[in-house]
Amino acid sequence: VGGMEHHDFDVLVIGAGGSGLRAAIAAQEAGARVAVVCKSLLGKAHTVMAEGGIAASLGNLWPEDNWQVHFRDTMRGGKMLNHWRMAQLHAQEVPERVLELEDWGALFDRTSEGLISQRDFGGHRYARLAHVGDRTGLEMIRTLQQRAVALGIEVFMECTVTELLLDRTGETPRISGAFGYWRETGRFMQLEAPSVILATGGIGRAFKVTTNSWEYTGDGHALALRAGASLVNMEFVQFHPTGMVWPPSVKGLLVTESVRGDGGVLRNSEGKRFMFDYITDYFKDETADSEDEADRWYDDKINNRRPPELLPRDEVARAINSEVKAGRGSEHGGVFLDIATRRTPEFIMRRLPSMYHQFKELADVDITKQSMEIGPTCHYVMGGIEVDPDTEMSKVAGLYSVGECSGGMHGSNRLGGNSLGDLLVFGKRAGDAAAAHADAMATDRPKVDPADVSSAKQVALAPFEPTGEHTENPYTIQADLQQVMNDLVGIIRTADELERSLVEIEKLKQRAQHLLVTGNRQYNPGWHLALDLRNMLLVSESVAKAALTRQESRGGHTRDDFPLPDDVWAQKNLIVGLDATGNGIELTEKPLPEMPDELKKLVE
Ligand code: FAD
Repeated sequence: VGGMEHHDFDVLVIGAGGSGLRAAIAAQEAGARVAVVCKSLLGKAHTVMAEGGIAASLGNLWPEDNWQVHFRDTMRGGKMLNHWRMAQLHAQEVPERVLELEDWGALFDRTSEGLISQRDFGGHRYARLAHVGDRTGLEMIRTLQQRAVALGIEVFMECTVTELLLDRTGETPRISGAFGYWRETGRFMQLEAPSVILATGGIGRAFKVTTNSWEYTGDGHALALRAGASLVNMEFVQFHPTGMVWPPSVKGLLVTESVRGDGGVLRNSEGKRFMFDYITDYFKDETADSEDEADRWYDDKINNRRPPELLPRDEVARAINSEVKAGRGSEHGGVFLDIATRRTPEFIMRRLPSMYHQFKELADVDITKQSMEIGPTCHYVMGGIEVDPDTEMSKVAGLYSVGECSGGMHGSNRLGGNSLGDLLVFGKRAGDAAAAHADAMATDRPKVDPADVSSAKQVALAPFEPTGEHTENPYTIQADLQQVMNDLVGIIRTADELERSLVEIEKLKQRAQHLLVTGNRQYNPGWHLALDLRNMLLVSESVAKAALTRQESRGGHTRDDFPLPDDVWAQKNLIVGLDATGNGIELTEKPLPEMPDELKKLVE
């Protein structure tokens, strides 16, 4: 089309985080010609920011640990809404994936016996997170990237995909490639492939306070919807309990759960260790009910129960929210996270070096001497593209999804450390399946329809053309959307606020019809945001509509007007699809897949 840049592969991976790279490696090793496209530089994905570690039942510290216990913890943490098959595959395969990463050169922290060290995290019964200080994601990305480059996988950096392409000539549509632009030059490109793997990460940038970076605008979710795939359980967004709240320039930045895993406790403005007041019946039997027992647990996990600070994230985030609401918060609207009075400076510096520097440099707080001020921050989306658990293929032939942009694995709440494992386990599975699919298509490769490419071009260039007198700035619309999502679709939800959010999102969608960007196509962040906004709006609508529909509280979804989990909703997933206008979404309810009896026994 008009001399546009054009490439041809067997497997195209969109996203170069842990899941994209692991998938690319698997596909290339299976003999496919593979390319990876990413919006920023290679190595800059979200995965690099992961701090705590990879949850895997290696049993290095606790021989009692095994995949069955990990499966149970994952299902209970997700309040049983996880796709059982994904939770099972994950728990079974993640130890092998971690050891393989070590074989490829990842340097994990060690136990005194020289085994991979494992740390405690919320919701995991045993110390289970393989880690590298508090910089695990960096080591993971470094290792995967090195291997991907050594295998000769082609990488397109600073290149954004705006549309998926389909071959609609057969009975059912098949994926045929993707359309995108180079961020630097603004020039378009067409990438053809019979297998496309979405690995684009999260949606956090639709919210005002978030740990997520500029890249997480829900592109994969929206691309999948527009291509005819479905999303599952988008109402479940994880608010991490501990983000920085002060100074304003760093509000939302993550304070790793490892601080609590390593002995840190939460206190309110009265100095009270308040989490003991928030132990729900669901977790009563496995949670310490006194400070003495909680403190003994760090050294003796067999005879004591876990501290309530290590309850799953949804429980802790809600508790903090309640303390602040009750007027027992800190000066800047958070609560206090204290490790200074509980561990020696040497211990803190060795175990949490990044946290020490983060607070020293950004807030002028010395965490070996002072408490940190923290509060909930939008961190992760459990909802995502609906896939077949074994192959990660979506409803659309040849379209796969892995990592944070895919759904099902984490149910209504993800346990810390289960994302990095998810990337490795399902990355490998998707890569293998995508390579096999491409191979099967070798003699009948799906073709790109030039009309789709022209229309993708037109949509991409629209923000340069004024539509009438009234014009809108993408930055203003994004800021307004973030405010709406924060205020009306945040951590505690009500029908009234969710209904208002949908009205506001609709208005924002209307305003977004009149976007106008200044400048030209060469490195123009305003234009890039204008294109991302379309995705953010579609994804935000999905979250708000699903949140309004699910009339219960479960995991990351808390309804003030329906404060308890509901037995009927416990049996249902909410599926999001594109509506007939192609501009909005519609929801359908779907029963949960039936769990086999031998797995049921593990979670009861
Ligand atoms: P990402 O790593 O998010 O990568 C997405 C990729 O997609 C990027 O390369 C991006 O450029 C690309 N992309 C996006 N849109 C487009 C587009 N339109 N076109 C082209 N490319 C595109 N999890 C744990 O298990 N343990 C932890 O300790 C942990 N700590 C965390 C700490 C922080 C601060 C954060 C933010 C998250 C943490 N998580 C942790 C969660 C975990 O890091 C992420 O869920 C995970 O890394 C996501 O990986 P991914 O491969 O799905 O996507």
